[in-house]
Amino acid sequence: MNADFDLKNILLIIAGITSLILGSLILLRNKKGRINIWFSSVVLSTAFWTFSMLFYRLSVLNTIIWARILYLSAALIPIFFLYFTFVFPQDEHRLKTWQKYLLPIPLIFVALLSLWPDMLIHKINMMPGKESTIIFNQTLHIFYGLYICVYFIWAYINLIRKYLASSGVLKIQIKFILAGTLISTLIGVTTNLIMPLLGNFSLNWLGQIAIMTLVIFTTYAIFKHHLMNIKIIATELFSAILIIILFVKFLLSESLQQFILNGIIMAAFLGFSYLLIKSVLKEVKTREEMEELAKELKEANVRLKKLDEAKSEFITIASHQLRSPITAIKGYSSMMLEGSFGRVPIRAKKMLKRVLQSTNRLMFLIDDFLNLSQIERGKMQYNFEKTDLKEMVSEIVDEFKTIAAREKKDIEVSLKIAETEDFIAMVDSNKIQQVFNNLIDNAIKYTEKGFVKINLYADDENGRIFFEVLDSGIGMGKETEALIFQKFTRAGENIFQVHTEGLGLGLYVSKEIIKAHNGKIYAKSDGPGKGSTFFVELPRGDVNPPNTSPEHDYQKHDKRIEEFIKKI
Ligand code: ADP
Repeated sequence: MNADFDLKNILLIIAGITSLILGSLILLRNKKGRINIWFSSVVLSTAFWTFSMLFYRLSVLNTIIWARILYLSAALIPIFFLYFTFVFPQDEHRLKTWQKYLLPIPLIFVALLSLWPDMLIHKINMMPGKESTIIFNQTLHIFYGLYICVYFIWAYINLIRKYLASSGVLKIQIKFILAGTLISTLIGVTTNLIMPLLGNFSLNWLGQIAIMTLVIFTTYAIFKHHLMNIKIIATELFSAILIIILFVKFLLSESLQQFILNGIIMAAFLGFSYLLIKSVLKEVKTREEMEELAKELKEANVRLKKLDEAKSEFITIASHQLRSPITAIKGYSSMMLEGSFGRVPIRAKKMLKRVLQSTNRLMFLIDDFLNLSQIERGKMQYNFEKTDLKEMVSEIVDEFKTIAAREKKDIEVSLKIAETEDFIAMVDSNKIQQVFNNLIDNAIKYTEKGFVKINLYADDENGRIFFEVLDSGIGMGKETEALIFQKFTRAGENIFQVHTEGLGLGLYVSKEIIKAHNGKIYAKSDGPGKGSTFFVELPRGDVNPPNTSPEHDYQKHDKRIEEFIKKI
């Protein structure tokens, strides 16, 4: 054996061992996954083919037997590869009955042809110092080659079809597999099928080496797709190869000193590999758990969405049903108060006033609910019309002055309107009135004594109108300022004592209304007990209100989960 000869055998050994370890690891990682099963079958049959070639080259007596095994092992690769292309990349495709039972029939024929004495292979011509040649039946060899080519071409048609139908990462992966396998099969078929057919055996060892590109490319492609936990496999493979090398070095130690040194290096590397694999395993497991969790979260979100829709629908129906009896109570009690049904005694009048007040509050609440469900379902209708906000604000403030006086609160309600500006704006006057009402009502509600000041002014340059409500009430902390605009949020330490009623909906509804007007609403306070100021900023001109519902929590979560899944 010359040095050149040795090098080829060493290359074959490396290729064989790599395929053997890789194939086994992929299978061990997921024994039930069809992609793993078929891909490891391809890789293991490659290892089988490579070792058969090695033994064929090394054997002296049983060369013809190894030649037959060599042909048999090569015949396994295309069928496994074909099966792999059926299930890759989705692992959803179950093999059909004909694929399962009919496809192996040609293989059985080819296997029999290869193994049977004097069928495909007649004899071996050994030539010292040169590659030995195989004498075979030309017709059967063509039949053998046809089987290999047809199955490979079929597999490529599958891959190309999947390539064309796929997109994104999947497309890149299939491209890698296509590129890797095409290079190796072209080389393999040329050196191990066509050239021997023409009597040239000089490169028949190259096919096994070339097939390594198939293994490497495919592994890389699958790695990118997180399909077979290749990260673990790669770590294990890398460690295993290094340990084998270190072990061989250890055995080949020439002195005691070297023996001890190599032993220590090997032991240290063993420990290191153990830790490395353990940490990679842990990382992959965590990733899988997170994926699982994200999936569950997504499902929960879908249920939440349905529940939310049902809730909104329920609120709409319930509110409509509640509205009619309350309108009746409100209407009749106010008629009674006006004396439409005869004289009402003073004490009864007092009670009737309370009834009227409570029904008014209830009506506000129901309106808030209705607004909320309309907002959430994206069904809030806006009628924009030219409105004089100056007139509107004056009327509202007058009304609140009476209410504050009636509630016998020690509050001075005052209004300041900048004189020169004009306050005509395109707004939905009912809705804007609702917002202003809400802000002034809150200021009175949350102020025991002092003042409630309302300011209205405009910035002509930017075409914006400003509405402010300042109070000397309970105020709020910095963290509360942002919270109060969320739905069902009532903030502040003793809010439930200050004002027992209230759902925490008013500001949320106001925010949505102002948003639809392309405006801004926000609050500022110097701290608890130091009063608050609420600001509204409205544009003068036309606005196109969005017809969509505001983003729900579950929609935000959905997006975040999607992004998270992409990252892991
Ligand atoms: P509600 O008044 O029904 O609780 P809102 O949405 O109108 O609901 O207000 C939400 C919360 O904002 C209130 O519960 C309160 O904590 C806070 N808040 C609103 N206006 C004021 C104000 N003028 N001063 C202090 N806190 C306020």
